Amino acid sequence: MRDCNVHGTSIPDGAVYKEVVIIGNGPSGIALSYLLAGNWPYYNGGIHPDEMLTARLSGASPGRSIVKQDLRFLSQGLEGRSNNPVSLLMDTLNHPCADLGLELPSLLEWHRHPECQVDHIVLGKGPPGGSWQAMDGNVLTISLASWMQLPGIEFRAWEAAENAGVVSSRDSRASVAAVARYYYDYVHSQGLARFFHNGCVVMCVHPLDISHSQNTDTIDPETGVQYCQPQALWRVEGFDLSNSVPFCYVCRRVVLATGSTDLPNRLGVPGELANPTWVLHDLRSLEMAFDRLMEEEEGDREGVPTEPRCDPVLIVGAGLSAADAVLAARFRSLPIMHVFRKKAGTLGKQLPENMYPEYHKVHQMMSDGGASYPCYRALAEHRVLEISSDHKVRVIGPDNTVSVHRVSVVAILIGSHPDLNFLPPGLGLGVKSSEPVDCRSNPIDVDPYTHRVVRAPPGMYALGPLAGDNFVRFLQGGAVAIASHINKELQHYTVL
Ligand SMILES: Cc1cc2nc3c(=O)[nH]c(=O)nc-3n(C[C@H](O)[C@H](O)[C@H](O)COP(=O)(O)OP(=O)(O)OC[C@H]3O[C@@H](n4cnc5c(N)ncnc54)[C@H](O)[C@@H]3O)c2cc1C
Repeated sequence: MRDCNVHGTSIPDGAVYKEVVIIGNGPSGIALSYLLAGNWPYYNGGIHPDEMLTARLSGASPGRSIVKQDLRFLSQGLEGRSNNPVSLLMDTLNHPCADLGLELPSLLEWHRHPECQVDHIVLGKGPPGGSWQAMDGNVLTISLASWMQLPGIEFRAWEAAENAGVVSSRDSRASVAAVARYYYDYVHSQGLARFFHNGCVVMCVHPLDISHSQNTDTIDPETGVQYCQPQALWRVEGFDLSNSVPFCYVCRRVVLATGSTDLPNRLGVPGELANPTWVLHDLRSLEMAFDRLMEEEEGDREGVPTEPRCDPVLIVGAGLSAADAVLAARFRSLPIMHVFRKKAGTLGKQLPENMYPEYHKVHQMMSDGGASYPCYRALAEHRVLEISSDHKVRVIGPDNTVSVHRVSVVAILIGSHPDLNFLPPGLGLGVKSSEPVDCRSNPIDVDPYTHRVVRAPPGMYALGPLAGDNFVRFLQGGAVAIASHINKELQHYTVL
C-alpha cells in the first residue's frame, strides 16, 4: 500500500459516490463501461455450429438480453482458450468457431437501454485504451484485427472510415497504433467519455467500515416508487497526474481492470536499475533509444554509408516482445546480441508462418545462432550476471563460462506483472492464495459467472488479464458477467 491511510475507513468530505468504480481504462474497462451505459447483447436467432448452444439460446424468452439470462446455463459445456465460461460464451457468439479458422458472422446484436444505465466511473493513468496507448505503435497485433474490436463498431469499418475507404486484407493483423486510436475513438463515439476520468492514478482501495455507513431511502417524485440508496462498501483514492490534485470515490462495487503490464519483470542483477537511460524494460523506450543510436551513427558517418560502428544492442528474452526488439534493431541495421535462457525455444511455433513470418524469421535466427543474419549473434542458454555503468555486461553460458561484452543499449523484455499495490496487503486474491497474482500462472480467483473476487470483501470484481483472460476477444465475457450480476443485484434491491 502506498501513501494511504489504511485506518481511515470513514468517508472523507468531498468524496463522490458512484455505484461502480472501474480501475483501468483499457479494453476491459471500456467494454464494461459500454455495458453499464445500458448497451446490452441479444442473441440474433442465427444458427451456431454448436447445436447444443443454439438450443440453449433458443430456449430463452424471445427478446431477453443475455445480461438477464442464466449465464451458467448458457455457457455450460463450452471449451476453448479461456478458463472463464462466460468469456467462452461471448467469444463464440461474437466470433463463432474462430479457432477453427472460420470467419462466421456474429450472432449478437446490441440494443441501447438508457434507463438501465448504471452510475459508474472508469479511472486510468493515460488516455482511454490502457496498455495499447503505451505500447510501441509500429508493432503488429498477434490477433486478427477483427478480434481487437469492441461491440458496436467493427474494426474494419472504423479503419475504412479512418483511411478513406482503404482496409487491410481480410485476415490481416492491425498495427498497435491503429488499435490504440480505435479504442480512443470508441470511447468518444459511443458516448462513454463522460464516464471516464483519465490521466489519474489510483493509490489506495480500501473497504469501508460499514458499521458507520447507512442506507438512505429516497422516493421518486414522479412514480412514488421508493428506492434504497445502497451503502458504500469501498473507498477509492488517488490523484490526477497533471496537477497532483487528489480525488476520492466511494462506491458499492469496485472493479479491478488494471491489466498485466504495469510492472515489467526484472532480471534482478546488479546494475539493472542503476542505468535507466540505456538499460530498458519496454519496447517503446527501446525504439527511442534505437533512434538516438541511429542519429549518433549518422553524425559520425557524415553521410558516408559504412558498416554499423556502435556496440551491439543486447536483447534479453525469448518471447514475442524480445522478438519485436530484434526486428526493430534489424530494421535499423543495428548489431544485435540476443541472450536467452533456453535453446531456441518455441517462439512463434504456435503461430502460422504465413501470418507471422517475422516471428518465424527471428526463431530461425535464434536457432542458427546468427548464421542467417551477419549482424545478429544468439547466446542461447546464457544468463546476464551483471551490468556495469561502463556499458559492459557479464553473461554466463551453459558450461559456466563467463564472458564480458560491451554493449550500447540493453533491452530486458521478459514479461510483466500487474501492479496491485493499491489494495490492502495480505488479501491473497490469486487462485494460489499464498502466491502473488500473475496473469498467466496465478490469476485472481473469480466466481466464473459473476467475476466477483472470491477472497475479497463483498463488492469487488476483476476481469481481463487479471482474471486470466489475456486476449481482448475473451475479456468481453468478463464484462458481461459483471454487468449481468450488477444488473440482477440492482433489480433485486433498488425497488423496495
Ligand atoms: C506486447 C503485447 C501485445 C499484445 N497483443 C495482443 C493481441 O494481439 N491481441 C489481444 O487480444 N491482446 C493482446 N495483448 C494483450 C492485451 O494487451 C490485453 O488483453 C488487454 O489490453 C487487456 O486489457 P485491460 O483493459 O484488461 O488492461 P490494459 O490494456 O493493460 O489496461 C489497463 C490500464 O489500467 C492502468 N492502470 C493500472 N493500474 C492503475 C492505477 N493504479 N490507477 C490508474 N490506472 C491504472 C494501466 O496503466 C493500463 O493503462 C498484448 C499485450 C502485450 C503486452
